[in-house]
Amino acid sequence: MWFRFGETQIHVDPGPGALVRALSSVPPFNPRELDAIALSHKHLDHAGDVTAMIEAMTSGGFRKRGVLLAPEDALTHEPTVLPYAQEFVERIDVVTERGGPYRIGDVDVRASIRHVHAVETYGMHFTHGDLRVSYLPCGRYFQGLVDDYAQARPDVLIINVLRFRDSMDVDHLTWDQARAVIEGVRPRVAILQHFGTKMLEADPRALAQSLEDDFGIRAIAARDNLEVDLNTEVASVGV
Ligand SMILES: [Zn+2]
Ligand SMILES: [Zn+2]
Repeated sequence: MWFRFGETQIHVDPGPGALVRALSSVPPFNPRELDAIALSHKHLDHAGDVTAMIEAMTSGGFRKRGVLLAPEDALTHEPTVLPYAQEFVERIDVVTERGGPYRIGDVDVRASIRHVHAVETYGMHFTHGDLRVSYLPCGRYFQGLVDDYAQARPDVLIINVLRFRDSMDVDHLTWDQARAVIEGVRPRVAILQHFGTKMLEADPRALAQSLEDDFGIRAIAARDNLEVDLNTEVASVGV
C-alpha cells in the first residue's frame, strides 16, 4: 500500500513485485519521494521487496534518507530487511506493542496491540490532521483486537481478510471474524484486502455491499492497482 497523506508518502508492506508495480504505474510512484517504509511483519508476502524498496528510496544507499518502521524480529532474527540496507535509511523506528507515536512528516503512527501471528506483528494507526486510518494486518481473532482498533476510532479501517469460512486452524481472520471486527470498530469506511482463494470465490464485492447494507458504512473490496481517495470516501458517509 502506498499512502499519500498530504505531502507525506509512506509505503506499507512492500511485498513481492511492489517496486516493479510502483515504477510501472502510470504515472509512476517514485520511491525517491518516500518518507518512510513500514512493515507490519516480516513475512515475505508483506516484506519481499522491502530491501529493494529501501535501495530505491535511498538511490542505492547513496542518499541516506527516509524512515524504516519495523518490528524487531524483521531486523534481527532472520531479517527480511537485509542488514546492509538497514544502514541506508536515516532512522529506524523499532515498532513495539502499542508503541509510538512514530512521527513521519506530518503523520503520526501508533502501533496496535500485538497480533496473534507466527512472527512479531503489529497493526498501524495513522493520524494526519483530522483523518484517522487504521491498518489491521494478518492475525488470529481475539477480543483485544477489536478493543484496540475501536479505541483508535479510525475513519478508515483497512483489514486483511484471508479466509472465507473454513475450519483451518491458522492465524488469519475469516470473513465472519472480520465482519465482527468491523461491527465492533465501526469505521466510516472499511477496505477489505489480502484475500485467499475462498474469499475471492465468495465475491468480495458482494460481501462489501452486505457491510454497507448492514452497518451503513462505506465498504470497498480491494483489487490490484486500486486507488482510493480516503478523504472523499470518508466525506461520502454521513455522521
Ligand atoms: Zn503473515
Ligand atoms: Zn499476510
